[in-house]
Parts: sequence; structure tokens; C-alpha cells
Amino acid sequence: MKPEKLGINTICTHVGEIQDEQFQGSVSPLYMGSSYAYEDVDIKRYPRYFNTPNQEALCKKVAALENCEDALIFGSGMAAISHTMLAFLEKGDHVVVQKTIYGGAFNFMVEEFPKYGIEYDFTEGFAESDFAEKIKSNTKVIYVETPSNPLMLITDLEMISRLAKSKGLVSVIDNTFASPVNQNPADFGIDVIIHSATKYMGGHSDICAGAVAASKEHIERIWNVGKNIGGSLSDYTVWLLERSMKTLALRVKAQNKNAKKLAKWLNKHPLVAKVYYPGLKDHPDYEIAKKQMKGFTGMLSFELVSSVDANEFMKALKLIKQSMSLAGVESTILSPVKTSHALLTPEERQRQGISDGLLRFSVGIEEEKDLISDIEQAFTSVAKQQLEPI
Ligand SMILES: *Cc1c(COP(=O)(O)O)cnc(C)c1O
Repeated sequence: MKPEKLGINTICTHVGEIQDEQFQGSVSPLYMGSSYAYEDVDIKRYPRYFNTPNQEALCKKVAALENCEDALIFGSGMAAISHTMLAFLEKGDHVVVQKTIYGGAFNFMVEEFPKYGIEYDFTEGFAESDFAEKIKSNTKVIYVETPSNPLMLITDLEMISRLAKSKGLVSVIDNTFASPVNQNPADFGIDVIIHSATKYMGGHSDICAGAVAASKEHIERIWNVGKNIGGSLSDYTVWLLERSMKTLALRVKAQNKNAKKLAKWLNKHPLVAKVYYPGLKDHPDYEIAKKQMKGFTGMLSFELVSSVDANEFMKALKLIKQSMSLAGVESTILSPVKTSHALLTPEERQRQGISDGLLRFSVGIEEEKDLISDIEQAFTSVAKQQLEPI
């Protein structure tokens, strides 16, 4: 049976798995070997060549999930991003980068590209004209991320793919926030799809990994850079990631459902000034999100009214923990001003719409009612503190 004929939970559970011919075990055996018998083939098996049995098994699953021909697994999301960019860009080339991307990707471009003589421009906004006006004669790549952190703004994938194709550019997306369950950019003609597998794919806050899915031709180009730079992932972690991904769709669908309910509940709360969730009809990009996403993710942001101190509120939460990372089965929260966007100037943050009272909420799989009571008790406790005389 062809993988594309299978439903998502079946792909997650089975595609790519290695049959245990020796003992008939139910899961893929783990091959930790870094040395394999010399075979009379062009490419020998070796972990840094991304072609050990477990690496190849997981690549099949990722490729099937993203409706792509092939995939590669990396040691981190940043390894996936850096290898991809260095595969399609060289000295004298230019890349158009979407405004507001993941901080690590931003730093990689700003700090490393000048060393290689690669030029870049960030767009002013998310519309076609914002991207088109930055394209130059030496532009080779358009790089986007959608939904983007932390305001969950959406870039139109069909528009990006059309624009890239009309100019002969390679389109690259960081699809981490959506996960392959909620968004398959290849269906809209996007060329290269990147994931920080540390997030939804891993999903249990215990794995750091990255993935890239694309056509065989594009993957071969990235592989050629990969074998030189060496960003592959240990087979043990690959094997753990395969296990995690069996429940990827189950987890993400539960997170989508919880986040949508919480977004609606927060939107009505008197102490919440604004909610940013692409699944809410009042989100500015709701229509585009509905067109290109199958679910609206477990990620949302909300702004507290100015009388509530964001820090005190977060400290008062009991079940929902403050954490830098996201997309685990457990709900976590962070203040972008204090963490991911701390290095930006207050003016730049204001320009991007990131206020001091903004909180990014990664919704887990806990019971919705328990998450609501935790938030409610935190609001009550903060309100009490404010009433107490100093
Ligand atoms: C975390 C993250 C990355 C980087 O992934 P690492 O696995 O930490 O290297 C890239 N993009 C997005 C959107 C992320 O959230």
C-alpha cells in the first residue's frame, strides 16, 4: 500500500517501521552500529551519512506525513534550518526572509550569513507585495514561518509558492508551529519543509531533533551539505523520536481541541485584553488559516489587561508551568518580553505588536476544565494580592 493512501494515525504508527525478522518484536529494532560491512554500493552506511536503518525508517515516516518524496533527520531544528539554507545559498546569493521568524533562525542568518557572503532582507509584512518588493536579481530563496511566533500570524502558502515559482526561487518553510498534522505546505507547492522535531514531533519535552522534507532532488542537495557539516542525530534518539511520533496525530488533535476551547474562554474573560489564535473568527488571518490548515494548533497568545501583572499571574499558576520550549503534552506558558523577544528594543517589540502583558501559551493534553480552573485560581490570587494593603 502506498503511504499517501493511509490515514494520518496509520502513517504515524506504521510507515517506515523496520520489521523485526529475528524475534518478531512489535517495534523497530534499534541499530546503534556506526560501522557496517563494506558493500559494493556508492554510499556506505554511516550515521553522518543519514542512512543507518533507523534514520532511514524515520525519514520515510516524516516524508509520508508531509506528502513529500524524501526527508532527512537532524540533531536539532537549527541544524535542519542551517543545513537547508547552506544547501541553497552561496556567496553572492540573496534570501528574502519573512518578518518575525524564530529567534534562533534570525540569529543564524544575521550572525552567520555575512561570513559566507550571503545577503538577506527581512520583509516589512506578510502580504505578497511585502515579499515581491524584496526580491532582487540574485535572490535564490524565500524563507517563511507560519503560524509565526508569538502572535500566530499566518503567511499565505499558495501565494508564496506562486511567487517563488514565477521567479525561479526555492521556497522554504519552518512548519514547526503547525506540525505535519495541521499543515502540509507541499500541498500548496512549497519546496522545502522544516521542523524542529524538538516540539510537536517529539512532543514530550525530552528530545532535541530536526527534520526536513522535500523532493528527492532537493533532499539530495541538502544531504550533500549534511555529510560535510555533520548534523545527523544519534540512532538512539532517532528511535525514541519514532516512538514519540506514533502518537503525534493523537496528541496534536487533542491540543488543537483544548487550545480552541481555551482561546474562546480567554477571549470572554474580563481580565484578558486580547487573544491571538488563528482559529478565532476575529483573528486577522482566520480566512487564510482556514484555507491552508487542517487544525489551528495548540499554540496561542493572550494579553492581560494592564491592571494584571503578567509575572505575578504566571507565578500564581500551579498546573501550567513557565517554560522556554513548547508543544509538549504538558501545558506551558512564557512571557515573550522576558524570554524569546528579550533582546529586541522596546520600540522594535512595539512595532511587532509584542506588549509587556503578552503571554504565549502552549496548550497540552490535560483536561480542559483543569487548565481553566488553574488559570481562574491564578487570576483570583493576583486580584487578591492587588487588594491587600502594602
Ligand atoms: C524551537 C524552534 C526552532 C529550533 O529548533 P531546535 O530544535 O531548538 O534547534 C526552529 N523553529 C521554530 C519555530 C521553533 O519553535
